[in-house]
Amino acid sequence: MLLPAPERQRRAAALRAGRLSAKEAVAAALARVREADGGVRAYTALDPERAGARARELDARPPAERGSLFGLPMAIKGNIAVKGLETTSGSRILRRYRPPFDATAVERLREADAVVLGITNMDEFGMGATTTKSWFGATRNPVDPEFVAGGSSGGSAAAVASGAAFAALGTDTGGSVRQPAAHCGIFGIRPTWGRVSRFGVTAYASSFDQIGCLSVDLIDCGRILGVIAGADPRDATSADQPAPDFAAAAASPKLPHTIVRCADAELDILDAPSRTAFLAAARRFEEAGCQVREVPLPRFSVALAAYYLLACAEASSNLSRFDGIRYGERKGTEGPLRATYRESRSAGLGREVKKRIILGTTALSRGYRDAAYHRALATRDRVRGVLDRALGTGELLLLPVTIGPPRRLAKPDVFPLTYQRDRFSILASLGGLPAISIPAGERSGLPFGIELMGPPWSEAALLSAAAAFQLTGAQTPNE
Ligand code: GLN
Repeated sequence: MLLPAPERQRRAAALRAGRLSAKEAVAAALARVREADGGVRAYTALDPERAGARARELDARPPAERGSLFGLPMAIKGNIAVKGLETTSGSRILRRYRPPFDATAVERLREADAVVLGITNMDEFGMGATTTKSWFGATRNPVDPEFVAGGSSGGSAAAVASGAAFAALGTDTGGSVRQPAAHCGIFGIRPTWGRVSRFGVTAYASSFDQIGCLSVDLIDCGRILGVIAGADPRDATSADQPAPDFAAAAASPKLPHTIVRCADAELDILDAPSRTAFLAAARRFEEAGCQVREVPLPRFSVALAAYYLLACAEASSNLSRFDGIRYGERKGTEGPLRATYRESRSAGLGREVKKRIILGTTALSRGYRDAAYHRALATRDRVRGVLDRALGTGELLLLPVTIGPPRRLAKPDVFPLTYQRDRFSILASLGGLPAISIPAGERSGLPFGIELMGPPWSEAALLSAAAAFQLTGAQTPNE
């Protein structure tokens, strides 16, 4: 079900060089949808007619009038509004919801002449790391369909890895772009919080949510980021920060002088092959001339607890609008409004979502607020302080993306392993920092990814470092 990396790479380069027309690129991606998506189930909604028509329209344009993402066939995660396409955040409560508008990021992609192919599957409202907790059912990993694709942007990662899209948008709250990218063997970048407008994103935990990009090709990743970045009057938290030329950065391999990394003891939670793969990646940096040294980092277990508490607290507030009255499918129309509320939410929301709403509401309620919510906020401040010091002189931090391989579809995680998967990725989220997941070979036949994280607004440095890392390896997809 996988489209081999060299082939994905060849298509991306051909489109960029103008050797592939928009129509051919879209047809190639749609052919892969037909061949592979019955098994992978990356998409929950497709728009082949509109995509085809758009591609023909683009091909008719004179070359001088073509946008920077000319003809790029893209998939969009199910919580990013696409006008007219069912955008349900993987939830039953939003089934049949077709937004009457495009999210700002989608609007910008279209203005740059990318082509939207469809909407991808995800864990309900972004809550998960496997893309199994979706009203639509699970997405499978195109590398091996016995395994999950990672989550929550698993549909986006699987669409790209199977060749059913050239690139995709995802969202990353605590690791949801980086983890599926790592499990599917592609790139995934989470930009600095505020770099990309969240207008049109269904909020999970607003102080962490950020749109990110998944791709087989680092230059495409840079080009997409350059297009979607920038202030937006419709999102007051989007930052008015100049965007450097990210595509140029991705095309200019450059290793930083030093890289910092977590201590060996922190790697004990990894399974043996992942640990070996991580240390081999660190050695690749060293052998390429980078100084790699360990730095003190926040206590991962404490940071993880703070993340979950805050994310659930924000979710309990954000999701309160899905009640069958203001938003979402209505159940129990007879009787008092209270019954409508209860029945709509009981039927419309999945177990994991309900569990988190209860946890979050408890953490915010009187009597618990100081002991839970405020304490978690204080922990976040401390984590940010430690990260500031670790990255103080502009260094990049090397971490595993997650604690091990994707799980088997047939073998659900037991608590607390479900949440432990986010142990490393939540650091960038708590810090509001940019981080990129980079393919770093294989571990027991499944893709392995490493994460580089940097200070705020350091995406260009991350892309250049990722490009340089690629050149150090013998088996990386960009070759
Ligand atoms: N797995 C994490 C969670 O469930 C992160 C998910 C995400 O980034 N959307 O909260």
